[in-house]
Amino acid sequence: MKPNETLLNTLLVDNNKKIMFTDEEIGDEHIMTSVDTPMRDDAFEMSDEEKMAQIEYHFRQIMETLGLDLKDDSLKGTPKRVAKMYVKEIFSGLDPKNMPSVALFDNKYQYNEMLVEKNISFYSNCEHHFVPIFGKAHVAYIANGQVIGLSKLNRIVQHFAKRPQVQERLTMQIAKELQKILGTEDVAIMIDAKHLCVASRGVKDDTSSTITSYYGGKFQDDATKAEFLKYIS
Ligand SMILES: [Zn+2]
Repeated sequence: MKPNETLLNTLLVDNNKKIMFTDEEIGDEHIMTSVDTPMRDDAFEMSDEEKMAQIEYHFRQIMETLGLDLKDDSLKGTPKRVAKMYVKEIFSGLDPKNMPSVALFDNKYQYNEMLVEKNISFYSNCEHHFVPIFGKAHVAYIANGQVIGLSKLNRIVQHFAKRPQVQERLTMQIAKELQKILGTEDVAIMIDAKHLCVASRGVKDDTSSTITSYYGGKFQDDATKAEFLKYIS
């Protein structure tokens, strides 16, 4: 996806210190309150089955409120389908038990350059409208003695995507998790994504995309950052 850096959607995340919006028009609703997903203390007291039963009940109420006839063959299964999709698929990343297990390997071949995994596809959902955010994540790190299986980079991106999200937080959560797992600050992330809350409703701009980035440790050096950007361009 070629970034279209319209002022409306371009934003930069500068290493957790501050978030710079290049245009105030980004909208009041696009506010991230913390790097951690805001969760209640009792978030996991209910089982998945109990959650699905609750969501099924409440989603049926929403559909009925909209005037839909839930006796229709095409609609009657929807509340149950939505409940299962929320808990088991698109919001399964809220539950820490679903975090992918990650094995590290000794960096026996002494590869000390950066490793870049680019164009990792992901699907997430905007926490302000509950409609999709989708795009590509580019992830890089410089090994500090240990390396990670390549597919685990995809799985970590996808785990944090399976939450109601804002793109800035998604970027930070992937970066912080990789830094923790790999034991190094030397992690870079760039995410280029489309937000259907911008494309299909509201301002209905379906050509812009949103870019967020994180540069930790050595990636703050201009030459290292430039190398990363060259690989993903
Ligand atoms: Zn939104």
